[in-house]
Amino acid sequence: MKQIQIAIDGPASSGKSTVAKIIAKDLNYTYLDTGAMYRAATYLALQHQLTAADVSEIIKLLDDYSISFGRSEDGQQLVFVGDVDVSHPIRDNEVTNNVSWVSAIPEVREKLVALQQQIAKQGGIVMDGRDIGTVVLPEAELKIFLIASVEERAQRRYKENLEKGIPTDFEILKQEIADRDYKDSHRTVSPLRPAEDSIIFDTTGVGILDVVAFIEDKVKKILDK
Ligand code: C5P
Repeated sequence: MKQIQIAIDGPASSGKSTVAKIIAKDLNYTYLDTGAMYRAATYLALQHQLTAADVSEIIKLLDDYSISFGRSEDGQQLVFVGDVDVSHPIRDNEVTNNVSWVSAIPEVREKLVALQQQIAKQGGIVMDGRDIGTVVLPEAELKIFLIASVEERAQRRYKENLEKGIPTDFEILKQEIADRDYKDSHRTVSPLRPAEDSIIFDTTGVGILDVVAFIEDKVKKILDK
């Protein structure tokens, strides 16, 4: 059966990964969370006390430690740096608030994009990120760009944090999301922006399953062609 590439881009906490995971499972495609790769690179840089001035050291670390994915017994995606499971630490505030400077380094992007394109060669793929439709998979058959108001995205993340027992100040969280969007959209290399041929979907007030249904309907139309 024909398999396609699905690119899902959008700002922080726009629901990309939740939606992408469900679609990949339904279609039996590979799911690739490219944000997790930039987070893993950030984790490495912070572990070694590096800053934006230490580009060659960061690249050396990426040469020395491979970033890879696995699966836990209960089916959750795991992220590894070398053979260390970093699935939890890469979601910490420290990584979240530093990832934008690491992901703005062109050499880091070059390395991670090459890896992402390599993984996409395996067959049907759902990839989420910021530059999937524009840079990583410009030929993807389906490109979706999810947006939602900052208020709603902050509320979603706030709820998730409460459920995980992470103490969170709502106003600070909202500001951090807005700051990350600004940095991701204004960097020189591969800024966050919709590809010209992407479908922009505002998910404010829309439930996850309705977003999934919308995208899967588009997939079906492409596969039925
Ligand atoms: O998707 P997530 O919020 O986990 O992404 C973390 C960060 O990684 C983003 O804020 C952005 O700086 C970077 N990123 C990127 N390009 C991608 C995916 C993520 O620059 N394709």
